[in-house]
Amino acid sequence: MVQDQLLARDIHDPRTLAAMTEVPRHWFVDDAMQGRAYGDHPLPVGGGQTISQPYIVAYMTQALALKGNEKVLEIGTGSGYQAAVLSRICSQVFTVERINSLLAGARRVFDRLRYFNIRSKLDDGTLGWAEFGLFDAIIVTAGGPVIPEPLIAQLADPGRLIIPVGDQHEQVLQVLEKKEGKVQTTLLAGVRFVDLVGEYGWNK
Ligand code: SAH
Repeated sequence: MVQDQLLARDIHDPRTLAAMTEVPRHWFVDDAMQGRAYGDHPLPVGGGQTISQPYIVAYMTQALALKGNEKVLEIGTGSGYQAAVLSRICSQVFTVERINSLLAGARRVFDRLRYFNIRSKLDDGTLGWAEFGLFDAIIVTAGGPVIPEPLIAQLADPGRLIIPVGDQHEQVLQVLEKKEGKVQTTLLAGVRFVDLVGEYGWNK
């Protein structure tokens, strides 16, 4: 997976590559899909949600340009795989999921792997997690119509936020960077994510 899907494309950040090598992706995938866990595609994780394609996980992780001591907020825990990858690179991960069964499954895997620097909660992640902010980086792994205002407020300066923004069929990955009091947004690749559902996302 790392050789053919990441190195062969544009993933070159050593921290991202090491984390993608270390985290056992098959632990985050249902028994019925074990044979496809390392394939070049997303997979269903239940509740109509998906675990992203390995390349997209690596691409978004690399875009955060983490150095090792950051506090990172993820919205959309899903299987827990993206949070697990981040947890190998930064000091603390906070992750928010709105579907209870998914959160419970992800927590079981974090415990089994002894990834104790991940903290999670059941909530509408478009509101962020103010109690533990500010965050050096924020990653949203579901697609919304706009960048949720509370997330911009909870981003540290300097800090980076990555989120797919668009309609419910296709989105563009946007990176919002805060630096010396200024905010700058860069558009990256076109992508397709499941809906970000919540107060600053799509309607329930
Ligand atoms: N990062 C996940 C992929 C998740 S798919 C992984 O590595 O497996 C997107 C997830 O976002 C889904 O589980 C969905 O339930 C969740 N989600 C959607 N809107 C949300 C919201 N407002 N707050 C928290 N989670 C949300």
